[in-house]
Amino acid sequence: MGERVIPLIDERQAALPLPSPSGLELPPGHLRDARGRPLRDLRISVTDRCNFRCSYCMPKDVFGKHYSYLPHSALLSFEEITRVARAAVRHGVRKLRLTGGEPLLRKGIEQLIAQLAALRTPAGQPLDITLTTNGSLLARKAQALKDAGLQRVTVSLDGLDDATFRRMNDVDFPVAAVLAGIDAARAAGLRNIKVNMVVKRGANEDQILPMARHFRGSGVTLRFIEYMDVGTTNGWRMDEVLPSADVVRLLQDAFALVPLAASAPGETAMRWGYAGPDGRHDPALGEIGTISSVTQAFCGDCNRARLSMEGRLYLCLFASQGHDLRALLRSGADDETIEATLAAIWAQRNDRYSELRATLPPEAQPAHSSGRRVEMSYIGG
Ligand code: SAM
Ligand code: SF4
Ligand code: SF4
Repeated sequence: MGERVIPLIDERQAALPLPSPSGLELPPGHLRDARGRPLRDLRISVTDRCNFRCSYCMPKDVFGKHYSYLPHSALLSFEEITRVARAAVRHGVRKLRLTGGEPLLRKGIEQLIAQLAALRTPAGQPLDITLTTNGSLLARKAQALKDAGLQRVTVSLDGLDDATFRRMNDVDFPVAAVLAGIDAARAAGLRNIKVNMVVKRGANEDQILPMARHFRGSGVTLRFIEYMDVGTTNGWRMDEVLPSADVVRLLQDAFALVPLAASAPGETAMRWGYAGPDGRHDPALGEIGTISSVTQAFCGDCNRARLSMEGRLYLCLFASQGHDLRALLRSGADDETIEATLAAIWAQRNDRYSELRATLPPEAQPAHSSGRRVEMSYIGG
């Protein structure tokens, strides 16, 4: 199959104008967007490269050998990322998630983690720092990441059956190497390890029960993610989404599950605990989660912002444009200006894509519309 020509570069280059920073010198933590939502979670994409070609994210026919990745000079430096993170923390961010592309491909990532781990909230607390990885390099890097200050990790894994997994990552990468990465993360002392499985109907739904059996009682929390219409390259179709409700029904036929309360406001996962013989949640058996970005909108308390590797700030996973913070950083702006600009950007935020999608008739659903949205591999999920 030949490579499809999709103007990704154009989308990457489009940037929203920066609002004027004046008049928004808020006291720390008081920032709210136009819908009253605070800013709590900053997802930082550190590279647009990846060694996998998951068809739902970086399909081979688009991200082939002629695809032009960003040059190193276009990427934010670790100092620039840390400056943005510091400003965001002042305005309420408590959680930082490093992502990509594949974040462990970014050279010296441990150094960035160490810089971010040194940040403190206005009350002097350390931040919750985590990283999402495909796990391919985790066995090699887990200890260095932990030593640098990483506390936890999320590993993406779409099946246990080796043939299915190799097909999903589309680079023939073996499942055993990812499982070894998860073991290494545990051995290194990373806690609260999560495994994310994207469920695509017709591709890997037969892996739901084997994955649940494998991770039940292991201390690792497995989460099932609905296949989303992010970007424009994955050929998303609603009939390939397996709704979380169906996943839960399947699991309930095999295991006794009890619903658990959300762990934090703005938390995207619905949680289910494995019940013991008394019918109550048995913490030793652990829990699973479902993330229903398609069938159950959770925009109402969405407190996440996303920083791309080249310094664009996106206010929604489904946005088509971001604000160019790199230009501001490289213009010599001082910390106060960066903080005030960030506040002005967030204060204008009105995004609620998933809620709106839920109201669209079938013919206006994303697969049929010409909307230009940023790629998942660019802002990292
Ligand atoms: N490469 C890393 C990884 O795979 O964990 C980090 C970046 S990846 C873009 C972040 C997460 O987005 C992964 O868990 C991946 O499975 C998920 N993802 C990518 N495309 C998706 C889609 N179309 N629908 C749902 N989740 C998706
Ligand atoms: Fe790479 Fe992660 Fe996207 Fe898969 S989901 S192609 S591992 S960035
Ligand atoms: Fe947040 Fe946008 Fe997702 Fe809604 S659609 S939950 S606003 S990222």
